[in-house]
Amino acid sequence: MHQYHIWTIGCQMNKAESERLGSFFEQLGYQATDTAEEASIIVLNSCVVRQNAENRVINKLNALKALKRTNPGITLAVTGCLVNSEVDQLKEIFPHVDHFFKPGDYPQWLERTELEPILPRHPSPTTFVPIIQGCDNFCSYCIVPYRRGREKSRPIAEIACEVKELVRRGVKGVTLLGQNVDSYGHDLPDKPDLADLLQELNTIDGLARISFLTNHPKDMSSRLIEAVAHLEKVCEQISLPVQSGDNNILKAMRRGYTVEHFRQLITEIRSKIPGVALSTDVIVGFPSESELQFQQTVSLLSELRFDTVHIAVYSPRSGTAAAQEFEDNIPPAEKKERLNRIEQLQENIATEINARLLGKTVEVLVEDKKKGKWQGRTRSGKLVFFSNNGDCLRQLMKIRIEKTSPWSLQGKVELK
Ligand code: SF4
Repeated sequence: MHQYHIWTIGCQMNKAESERLGSFFEQLGYQATDTAEEASIIVLNSCVVRQNAENRVINKLNALKALKRTNPGITLAVTGCLVNSEVDQLKEIFPHVDHFFKPGDYPQWLERTELEPILPRHPSPTTFVPIIQGCDNFCSYCIVPYRRGREKSRPIAEIACEVKELVRRGVKGVTLLGQNVDSYGHDLPDKPDLADLLQELNTIDGLARISFLTNHPKDMSSRLIEAVAHLEKVCEQISLPVQSGDNNILKAMRRGYTVEHFRQLITEIRSKIPGVALSTDVIVGFPSESELQFQQTVSLLSELRFDTVHIAVYSPRSGTAAAQEFEDNIPPAEKKERLNRIEQLQENIATEINARLLGKTVEVLVEDKKKGKWQGRTRSGKLVFFSNNGDCLRQLMKIRIEKTSPWSLQGKVELK
């Protein structure tokens, strides 16, 4: 039997698309393999958001040259954000690659006769569902709009149909994905929004949880916050990247909002959605970020106390406005030090937030079993471990929390 191998790096969108690609190959009778050498089709699903990721893709592509030389019969394809509009240029640089195809597309060179939707065959209990591709925002540091293109939403009916099929295959929770989910629907005929989509998905029998990533502070609406507050399947978790606590840096980043607006949004979310877990992203070491400006970020994070903070060190991406206009003038050691300071702060905050769950009973959707322990997530997205002899996979379990850490919780099944 023919085998396929998919190598993936990058965001959840890439992971979701790789899962679907795998299903595409399986519908054609291919079998998955973890070993590139065993495969007759190899696909690299690439990421170029950071230079480091791009370097890894290029190294991987170069490493596959030898394999292609000894085995010219294999098909080597590349998708993901490396594939921009200049495919001819890519073909010149990587002549050993047979096909380049855009992120979210399918290998057009293979004909599909089955009409089954391209969904993961054996989806995990919680599965990612892309709802909008691309981004229209052009934040000054970001390469995504150049690589993934302009925003393109999938119709509500198509997404609902797909989620119903996923539920039939055992899925209990879906995470809706988009670079900016708050833009969802503006390009569709009736201009529905994310709240409309959530309302529709909330009616699907057998689906227990719905969450979504990533929001944009400039576009997040009160209507969406109300929908999260009132729809019972929509989980109390919101991911809202602030990026910086300084208005001048936000302006240079072209984020389109101020710290004051962001703070107001968080207040509204917390007042309407009790118990909501909030996560954010920050970039440290943006060009010319002074110590004082960095401290503004630190004090905003101390004030707003997020459950999770994803921290990135600024690195210029060629082709972006920031790379063209600003000098990358914060020394690497300084960037690292700023990263460490936020990591330390966040560790303390998360320790305190999670400690409040000690002795409480939470609902956990069980996603996996590793090293003899079941693991799953609360409605707010917190990772919980527990032991149980029964088969708990895909179950909603009541777990009493007995131990907490900044990163996860441990507990016991609550006896009725
Ligand atoms: S919102 Fe900004 S950071 Fe996010 S994908 Fe779009 S351009 Fe990039």
